[in-house]
Amino acid sequence: MTDWTRRQIGGLIGGALLALAAPHIVRGQGRAKVVVIGGGIGGATVARYLGDMKSIDVTLVEPNSTHVTCFSSNLYLAGLRSLASLTFGLEMLAEGHGITIIRDSAVAIDPAGRAVELRGGTKLSYDRLVVAPGIAFKFGEIEGYDEAAAKIMPHAWIAGPQSELLRRQLKSMDDGGVFVIAAPPNPFRCPPAPYERASLVAYYFKQFKPKSKILILDAKDKFSGQELFQDAWSRHYPGMIEWLPSQFIGAIKAVDVAARSVVTEGETFRAAVANIIPAQKAGLIGEKAGLTDASGWCPVDPVTFESTLQPGIHVVGDSIIGGDMPKSAFSANSQAKACAFAIAASLTGSRQFPPHLFNSCYTFLAPHDAFTNALTFVPEGGRIKTVRMFISKVGESAEVRRRTAHHAVGWYSAFTADVFGGGS
Ligand SMILES: Cc1cc2nc3c(=O)[nH]c(=O)nc-3n(C[C@H](O)[C@H](O)[C@H](O)COP(=O)(O)OP(=O)(O)OC[C@H]3O[C@@H](n4cnc5c(N)ncnc54)[C@H](O)[C@@H]3O)c2cc1C
Repeated sequence: MTDWTRRQIGGLIGGALLALAAPHIVRGQGRAKVVVIGGGIGGATVARYLGDMKSIDVTLVEPNSTHVTCFSSNLYLAGLRSLASLTFGLEMLAEGHGITIIRDSAVAIDPAGRAVELRGGTKLSYDRLVVAPGIAFKFGEIEGYDEAAAKIMPHAWIAGPQSELLRRQLKSMDDGGVFVIAAPPNPFRCPPAPYERASLVAYYFKQFKPKSKILILDAKDKFSGQELFQDAWSRHYPGMIEWLPSQFIGAIKAVDVAARSVVTEGETFRAAVANIIPAQKAGLIGEKAGLTDASGWCPVDPVTFESTLQPGIHVVGDSIIGGDMPKSAFSANSQAKACAFAIAASLTGSRQFPPHLFNSCYTFLAPHDAFTNALTFVPEGGRIKTVRMFISKVGESAEVRRRTAHHAVGWYSAFTADVFGGGS
């Protein structure tokens, strides 16, 4: 494994774009049809890149008119960004990239008949189908925590109304209260994000509710970026954040919504505000369509992202078993480009090249203190393996961290333009 230099990180988005040269598709009986389920990060990217090939007829199915990005939603919780600035319409994909958008949900897939049924009754036929439904929650695993309980103890792990609810609760919390974050077991969407959330909420508390505390009840014994977070917590928020790993507290067993408490194997923790992030699995349509295995996630071919369980159906984004690739927006976007290229190759019979897959994340510890990582992956022996890695280090200067925070803002604009249209 080779280390990345800091300068190489900036080239990742551009490099990924260059990897996708649009092939010319010639078909005797009209344009090939690709249906994409899910207009989040993975689905919007596949649709955009296939749409740009002009010779493919792309239909994107998504129930929501806008997408609120989970990335940077922790900044919103701390009052550092508005939700409007994290919200994107899909109209640029329709206008600029020739995609037909249908505002509906897929409720059934017929792999043999190559058709998708929508909640509204429409049936769509396809030559290739891409499924990118993100995550669903394993609601049964914490007793008392279901969709109704999430309206009182939000997860805020799908951005939008849940994020607004959690922000309202944090704002109205009395100074001196305890904010409890129940962090989920692996694997889950965005491994550093629960701890970024603790950092940014601590930043908010430090200014407006300095007697308040944050308690992280973790289903794990270690977490992504742990050294960097714990270093930052002692520098920026001494005594404010306490992390209790599973070896101390055991499993998170139950919640009591009325008492606002979280019950572990040995103890009950009272919260002024509770953020329960449940265990996760692939978006529900994945399970319904027979795309998931016993893990609850979708196994795929790491070159084409075609399901290993249902031929002709591709899966990208958080729903897949991604080998070394974490469940992140950058990963979803990178997989989506590789998938679009593979679909185009299969529809034209043109040569398929092994993809280069990337992930790069910026994580905020405070508004002017962020760390980053950048990883490159290749498919090897049927799975996705890391080949190069850069990660920020403890002890970097304040100036390096300030620059990283600044780059994160630029990355956000370039990345969302690439996903939702408007990028070059
Ligand atoms: C707090 C937080 C911070 C994060 N920070 C970062 C970060 O800094 N960097 C980073 O790279 N990643 C980050 N992430 C992770 C990132 O948001 C996800 O990995 C990414 O959104 C995954 O993309 P996806 O396409 O798989 O799912 P999504 O973006 O969730 O899209 C799924 C879409 O599918 C739709 N859908 C579901 N079922 C159906 C159906 N049956 N029919 C039609 N449509 C359907 C949904 O409505 C949704 O729009 C963060 C996540 C969280 C929670």
